[in-house]
Amino acid sequence: MTGKRELSLYYHIPFCTRKCDYCHFYVLPNQESLKDQLFEGFLLEKERWNSVISHHTIPSLYFGGGTPALFGPERIAAIIDSTPLDSHAEITLEANPENITYALMDAYKRAGVNRVSMGIQSLNDELLAVLTRTHGAQKAIDAVYACKEAGIKNISIDLMYDVPYQTLEQWNDTLSKAVMLPITHLSLYNLTFEPHTVYFKKAALKKAVPHEEASLQMYQNAVRTFEQSGLSRYEISAFAKNGHVSRHNVGYWTGRQFLGFGPSAFSDYGGKRFRNVANQSKYLAALRNGTSPADFEEELDPAAKVRELFVIRMRLKEGCDLTQFALDTETLQTIQRLIADGFLEQEANQVKLTDKGILFYDTVASELI
Ligand code: SF4
Repeated sequence: MTGKRELSLYYHIPFCTRKCDYCHFYVLPNQESLKDQLFEGFLLEKERWNSVISHHTIPSLYFGGGTPALFGPERIAAIIDSTPLDSHAEITLEANPENITYALMDAYKRAGVNRVSMGIQSLNDELLAVLTRTHGAQKAIDAVYACKEAGIKNISIDLMYDVPYQTLEQWNDTLSKAVMLPITHLSLYNLTFEPHTVYFKKAALKKAVPHEEASLQMYQNAVRTFEQSGLSRYEISAFAKNGHVSRHNVGYWTGRQFLGFGPSAFSDYGGKRFRNVANQSKYLAALRNGTSPADFEEELDPAAKVRELFVIRMRLKEGCDLTQFALDTETLQTIQRLIADGFLEQEANQVKLTDKGILFYDTVASELI
């Protein structure tokens, strides 16, 4: 034991070959000059935090995006090599199937990446076209095998439901194909129509989203199929085989502090939450001037912070030990009401979501916060 507190690190790499019509993230075109600029920004930003980093244990390093696999193994290796990681640190690279080859993943493995999170979303070509993704189903399958052959043992995939025109049959087919893949982890997302996206403006697409009952069925079928295949649900939408839970994401759900580098990246450190400006030029200009690239910062009062942590932690299957949270009387009363209404259940001091509570987590969360 070092006695140091844990701190996770996140690098936001916003490049994509094409922006998906439903995407609301900060995304930039796949250009080398922009990557060089971002790399410079990362070096400058990390320098600002080096003394903080050196006083913590770093259990996870996460390259998210965007499509971090477009950043190049040399740049990724340089970041990994300059980070004082815990010897068993989880080092995740998000990737999209389109550009994945054995040679590329072999290079990332040599760079130090030990976990890949692949944005597959669907194994149905028609739905992938609706989503305007740049890959087809076969390419997605090949990409997962390329990772495995390159020796990356920890592979996660993302799947998406509530996609316009999606049928239960298509979803069940994707689920049964997905569980045949050599994966250790799976994250489930339901598609949402976010403002400022191409999707948001298309009324016809909104009308073609599966209705609520079908959506519920899709979630339940997914949970059943995954559990039968050894992918155990450990969080509302996250499933792991043989204990391969995401150390990085568990950090978010258990209140571990984290620093996010890059444009639009969030951090939670020292009781404050802050976000970098979602503009790479402004991000870099701030850092070159020796100032913070954050354009948003908030500090929750202690009681609100405890409630928020409780609510986020409730996403985990095991729920929360009430004795570990100094909750106010009003929140404790709300918990009792949610138990009476069948959203939560309690055993000794442990409180967790019921099956109904899982399906209505957003309602539970808004009642408690
Ligand atoms: S690949 Fe992901 S980050 Fe890139 S545009 Fe599509 S949804 Fe957005």
